[in-house]
Amino acid sequence: MTNIDRIEKLAAEQNLPDEDLYALLTSLTEKEEELLYARARAVRERHYDKAVYLRGLIEFSNYCRNDCYYCGIRAAASGVSRYRLSADEILACCNQGYALGFRTFVLQSGEDLTYSCTDICHLVSAIKEAHPDCAVTLSIGEKTREEYEAYFDAGADRYLLREETADPVHYVKLHPPALSGENRKRCLYDLKEIGYQVGAGFMVGSPGQTAENIIADLRFLQSLTPHMIGIGPFIHAGGTPFAHEPDGTLTDTLHLLGILRLLFPRCLLPATTALGTIDPRGREKGILAGANVVMPNLSPRGVRDKYLLYDGKICTGDEAAECRNCMEMRIASTGYQVVVSRGDYCQG
Ligand code: SAH
Repeated sequence: MTNIDRIEKLAAEQNLPDEDLYALLTSLTEKEEELLYARARAVRERHYDKAVYLRGLIEFSNYCRNDCYYCGIRAAASGVSRYRLSADEILACCNQGYALGFRTFVLQSGEDLTYSCTDICHLVSAIKEAHPDCAVTLSIGEKTREEYEAYFDAGADRYLLREETADPVHYVKLHPPALSGENRKRCLYDLKEIGYQVGAGFMVGSPGQTAENIIADLRFLQSLTPHMIGIGPFIHAGGTPFAHEPDGTLTDTLHLLGILRLLFPRCLLPATTALGTIDPRGREKGILAGANVVMPNLSPRGVRDKYLLYDGKICTGDEAAECRNCMEMRIASTGYQVVVSRGDYCQG
């Protein structure tokens, strides 16, 4: 079978055996990648037409108890100026975001235990009260099932927690012994069962990652069937054990976006900030490879340059309104269109 056949088969059947996925992941010519992206765009347009959904990202604390080897805000990173936003500051970001047309707020942070379960619940319910037509997404790491249930009962709609890598051996290369891939997967299954719209995913080109590891992620995602899949290139971060590791590539990330769109036709697939960081038009290229979500930053300008998961992160000096307008223009340049909508998963 040729790669052309493999792409057509993937588009028709939403699946492929491992050896064919392996071929697509390791050897696509330019002509083949054009076909992959064309099929991916056709599938996303069948379910989502030309719409690109906005998520307003509020990075509300960069304190973290964990020491993930890749992450620029890991506990052991020195030289990080730590901050946390108050509930009032977070609400002010939401109000500003609402005026700019955001209908989803993503609250992301390191694993900062200063915010108790009750604090998070109060925050979620305050946002839902102020903006009942908006979705609230949490991305605050690994918690107990009871905590996830409490946030959900308080009104949280969605939860983002990348598995990072589904392969247990690779997981150990990326994380300290205190963390376990098994617990992360447990969290994802709990979140799904509780009723969240769940986002999983992984970095592309993280140190030690092989094509076999990526296939393990694709199989894990098929078993979880999340609503959203977040992938972006690994980018080195100063002050971490991986400070001198090579970055993931634009090409590998775009290939994976195309493959993910064909494997998961209805999934919400963001063109991430990391993709925009490794290439000035990375997010536009991501949209043209099958992505349908972008996550502009709504964090207050004063803290933007402190939430540095990796070096060179873009948009750290802009106001939320500038980011919003810039994004609208960038997306319009692809022929797709930013819409004012919660952008829920399309059930069909
Ligand atoms: N504490 C939360 C949020 C983590 S930050 C949690 O544990 O889920 C969000 C994502 O950024 C991570 O899941 C990881 O995949 C990504 N990330 C972290 N460091 C990165 C790096 N150096 N390059 C690219 N992406 C990175």
